[in-house]
Amino acid sequence: MIVDRQGRRFRNLRVSLTAACNYACTYCVPDGKRLVAAQDELSAEAMLRGVAYLIEAAGIERLRITGGEPLVSPKLDSFLRGVSQLGLTDISLTSNGQLLARKLPLLLECGIRRLNISLDTLDAAAFRSIARGGDLATVLDGLQQARAAGMQIKVNMVPLRGQNLDQVLPLLDYCLVNGFELRFIELMRMGHLARDGNGFQRQFIGMPELLELIGSRYDYVQAHAALDATALRYAIPGVGHFGVIANESVPFCRTCSRLRLSSTGWLHGCLSSSNRHYVGDLLDKPRHQALPALQGLLMKALGDKQDVAFSGGATVMKIIGG
Ligand code: SAM
Repeated sequence: MIVDRQGRRFRNLRVSLTAACNYACTYCVPDGKRLVAAQDELSAEAMLRGVAYLIEAAGIERLRITGGEPLVSPKLDSFLRGVSQLGLTDISLTSNGQLLARKLPLLLECGIRRLNISLDTLDAAAFRSIARGGDLATVLDGLQQARAAGMQIKVNMVPLRGQNLDQVLPLLDYCLVNGFELRFIELMRMGHLARDGNGFQRQFIGMPELLELIGSRYDYVQAHAALDATALRYAIPGVGHFGVIANESVPFCRTCSRLRLSSTGWLHGCLSSSNRHYVGDLLDKPRHQALPALQGLLMKALGDKQDVAFSGGATVMKIIGG
């Protein structure tokens, strides 16, 4: 097992199935273009081999399927069916929920029971101006169908000053009533936001401000979270939970166990590093040739992790897999 001097190792893999997305969220896709896949995306078979090799070479236990938008990918069906046979402890999926109702039977059939659905607002006009694609009512319908089917659901919201700060409490109310755990993700300096410090600062809302706002309506206490969790969790006694992924306010690099595989075959050991390591060519090789080479690249990827704090990265989230 590859371990760094801080005791960190890769345990959680995020696979970006495709860079194509049916949204073009303002903070993620600056040019506003939707449904653009990356050139030379890997086949489902190559990605499956990648996951299998990474389980062996890095000790991956848990997988999150993301994108882009994984539910638009033509690879979804065969990737899901294959990956469910690899003996992982947990497989979950992050999606914007636009195609959730349609894909729900497939997800259930392949054993997916945990979903993170991104939803930044319950206001239809604000939804259109942030997501620049999709339809709010369709997402809400998908959420209700997934809930009725017994899916465990977290909702991801990126609070943005001037765009959805007024939605923090309505979304929290909605999630608590429906038994969803709302995760507030502090805006990250990724892609164009890494270059545009003013734009980032103008929109950024930090955890202290969020907690103060939530405290104006609810009493909450800190709750248990796994050591390598990204989110700080809070319980509203008798009502439910919420979490904050506080990249800026309370960085969690010291305990990060995440590894990312892009849709084009690059390994990323850290969101906050521009280093990446190409493994696409290794995935065609037999196991005895691929694994030693992969080990070397995994050591480099682990070495890319920040020691303490996230400082931003040039890569766009939809490429690297959020
Ligand atoms: N399409 C899927 C979705 O919407 O969840 C998966 C990919 S998306 C890139 C994953 C997550 O990254 C979403 O919750 C999105 O809000 C978040 N995200 C993208 N850019 C971000 C940024 N600059 N800061 C914080 N979160 C970001």
